[in-house]
Amino acid sequence: MPIENDGIMIILSSPSGAGKTTLVSLLSGIENFEISISHTTRKPRAKEVQNKDYYFVEETEFNRLINNQEFLEYAKVFDNFYGTTRTPVINHLSKGKNVLFDIDWQGADQIKNKKLDYKLITFFILPPSKDVLFKRLSSRDMKDKLIAEERMKQFGRDVLHWINYDYVVINDDLDNCFSKIKGLIDAEINNGSKDYDKEFIREHVEKLTG
Ligand code: ADP
Ligand code: 5GP
Repeated sequence: MPIENDGIMIILSSPSGAGKTTLVSLLSGIENFEISISHTTRKPRAKEVQNKDYYFVEETEFNRLINNQEFLEYAKVFDNFYGTTRTPVINHLSKGKNVLFDIDWQGADQIKNKKLDYKLITFFILPPSKDVLFKRLSSRDMKDKLIAEERMKQFGRDVLHWINYDYVVINDDLDNCFSKIKGLIDAEINNGSKDYDKEFIREHVEKLTG
């Protein structure tokens, strides 16, 4: 059972480009919320900052962390490795901080299966349409059109995991989406009523994949 003053874990996953990194960054502005900074073997994007967006490491260092069992979870995503180290997460949670995770469905499954003594809420973020997703991916990865195309190819497979999350939220207008997620987190923390329509989401997924 979670201890009353412990923080909670909040996972955001999505098909690439739907906006989870942007949303995690907005949520981290709320008092008492901290981002879990992942390790990755991916190379930094133009605006990304070492030790802030990720700990960018070589594969040898990543393997060392695996062998030392330092990861709470790790996975291979799009040809690179990504992982969450355990110690900083537990330190935050035990000090009553809520920890935000921007991780894929494999990592979310691993954390769920660990059944840690901390409350966990999982969100899956969807784009309003495939056209919008492609535009967002193209504007972010301007340097390499191939990256956007590769990630679009993966979309149909990634989106199928929506069903395993507590809540699925559509990121059309950013402020609305942020408010919706914040409202659901508040409702979970305070045992309040949840504004959530799963059938509407099911129909949206059918439109995206149909
Ligand atoms: P992800 O982390 O899911 O791969 P990002 O947060 O990097 O996605 O968002 C992809 C791109 O879309 C970024 O350039 C971001 O600024 C933009 N973006 C995110 N949410 C919105 C939104 N609601 N409206 C318009 N652009 C958005
Ligand atoms: P990107 O390269 O766009 O930053 O991230 C690619 C994917 O890796 C995204 O789905 C992102 O959520 C996921 N990811 C980032 N960090 C981690 C992590 O520590 N663990 C796992 N499992 N996935 C991660």
